[in-house]
Amino acid sequence: MRILIIDDSKFIGKMVGEMVSPKGHQFEHALDGKEALDLLEKDSKFDIILLDWNMPNLDGVGFLEEALEKKLHLCPIIMMTTENSPEKIMKAIGLGASEYIMKPFTPDILFGKIDQVTKRAS
Ligand SMILES: [Mg+2]
Repeated sequence: MRILIIDDSKFIGKMVGEMVSPKGHQFEHALDGKEALDLLEKDSKFDIILLDWNMPNLDGVGFLEEALEKKLHLCPIIMMTTENSPEKIMKAIGLGASEYIMKPFTPDILFGKIDQVTKRAS
């Protein structure tokens, strides 16, 4: 599986990389929504996107809006949140996100969600 992590935290990128790499998954890390859109325009072959909410330049919701407009929503997107705000989560789902997980999360939680959204998408 190819996984794209979009998060301005290098720590979160490293943490998720350490969770997915031992299972044989490939991953790329973009530090904000803008960097992720640039990357997806060149190479959209990802199976899952893990998307942070708060980021400089272009945040999670901004990324979803632009990705929707540019039709770059090519795979399931899981939002990574630090707050349980139903309003914000509904907005993200309305813009094409599939699911969300609360930070910090364990590998079991992450892979549980990935299984859930990839099964739904197939
Ligand atoms: Mg952030």
